[in-house]
Amino acid sequence: IWADVLGYVRKNISEVEYHTWFAPLKNLGVQDGSLVLGVRNSFAQEWLRKQYQGLLEDALRSLGAQHPQVSFQVLPAAQDALLLPSDPPPGPPPAPGRPASPIPVDNRKTLNPKYTFENFVVGPNNNLAHAAALAVAESPGKAYNPLFVYGDVGLGKTHLMHAVGHYIAERFPDKRIEYVSTETFTNELINAIREDKTTQFRNRYRSVDLLLVDDIQFLAGKERTQEEFFHTFNALYENHKQIILSSDRPPKDIQTLEGRLRSRFEWGLITDIQSPEYETRVAILKMNAEHNRIDIPQEVLELIARQVTTNIRELEGALMRVVAFSSLNNVPFSRAVAAKALSNVFAPQEVKVEMMDVLRQVASHFNMPPDVIRGSGRVREVVIPRQVAQYLIRDLTDHSLPEIGQFFGRDHSTVMHAISKVTEQLGKDTELTAAVETLRRKMKGLDEDAD
Ligand code: ADP
Ligand code: MG
Repeated sequence: IWADVLGYVRKNISEVEYHTWFAPLKNLGVQDGSLVLGVRNSFAQEWLRKQYQGLLEDALRSLGAQHPQVSFQVLPAAQDALLLPSDPPPGPPPAPGRPASPIPVDNRKTLNPKYTFENFVVGPNNNLAHAAALAVAESPGKAYNPLFVYGDVGLGKTHLMHAVGHYIAERFPDKRIEYVSTETFTNELINAIREDKTTQFRNRYRSVDLLLVDDIQFLAGKERTQEEFFHTFNALYENHKQIILSSDRPPKDIQTLEGRLRSRFEWGLITDIQSPEYETRVAILKMNAEHNRIDIPQEVLELIARQVTTNIRELEGALMRVVAFSSLNNVPFSRAVAAKALSNVFAPQEVKVEMMDVLRQVASHFNMPPDVIRGSGRVREVVIPRQVAQYLIRDLTDHSLPEIGQFFGRDHSTVMHAISKVTEQLGKDTELTAAVETLRRKMKGLDEDAD
């Protein structure tokens, strides 16, 4: 029946809408007479409720339902793994409360199929963590043990851990892989103690070949869990089983963590993930759009990447928002549309601009290769765009004069001279003034008539 519902929906909306909103839905079965659908996040939940609830009910009606009802439920992050459209229809959802059985049938089910190395964009912000994860995946238990990855939320720690899991699962189908959040580990331990099943709990975690424990900072202050984890760690370590831990901070900054655990966390390799640079953000958006089969111009992706600078989860959310906005308003993607779609979420003054981006825009405005502008040519045709570029970079970015100078292979006094030249001409030279203003608006994504 779910396939029929999807079939009905698909006939009534665009492909982009279908792939964005319906393909990732997860059928959770019927509860209290209502068809329950699992969604990735509250934004999707809200959006589906507002825009598509009626359509889904129509679909059910067309299949003979008398009083069709649809509701949406946000899935916990770990259940993302179940969100593939190709997933076979699931049975009824597990009863709420504690997990049905402390021993899972196949641990790999807890790996999100999206979180692979292939889908991980490598940039200067994460290349060390990526290289370490790959080394561990290639020789588990031998390269670095444990591997400790830390960084702020939404920067790819969980993704990277799952990637190692997939890699090993593919090459060594017999290896037992266990991914667990520290929270789940704690809850399962509590349940095991209550139900007198601690032996089973221990056997389970001490018999794996690869143990991935996410957000280990949540061990702080949990003495009983720390104690249990200490023994799990030792058992695995002694048997040369690979352990990967993630945290939002390095071991030394985790408060109330037992010294013996902290020192163990430091035995292997500690590596961090930083916020992605502009180019990496664009690449991530691009991959995301391709995956979701959204045909969106590069410059729109660039605008999004400029506005959302810290968190990759938010970056993906912003892309969704732009897609939703243009599909709702039935307008093609453009910088102006994207700027509007994001205007409630990100204040315009937060727009971040990169030097390279300014240079590219200036180059395209003056119809000249960026390298020529950065080169050594001294003819007026090149000097003016170069001065405009330096002026705009100073105006729109936080870069210092020496940094700008370095970018152009010149010293800071040259940049200062360029800026005062342009300032002097503004308001006098109409052509130059228009160029500067057009470019400034474009860079800030304010240009309503862009495209
Ligand atoms: P963390 O565990 O650090 O909070 P996640 O691993 O959950 O972050 O990543 C958040 C989102 O960003 C996920 O959807 C993930 O796929 C995506 N993501 C993070 N890093 C990258 C990357 N380098 N390339 C592609 N997607 C990424
Ligand atoms: Mg995580």
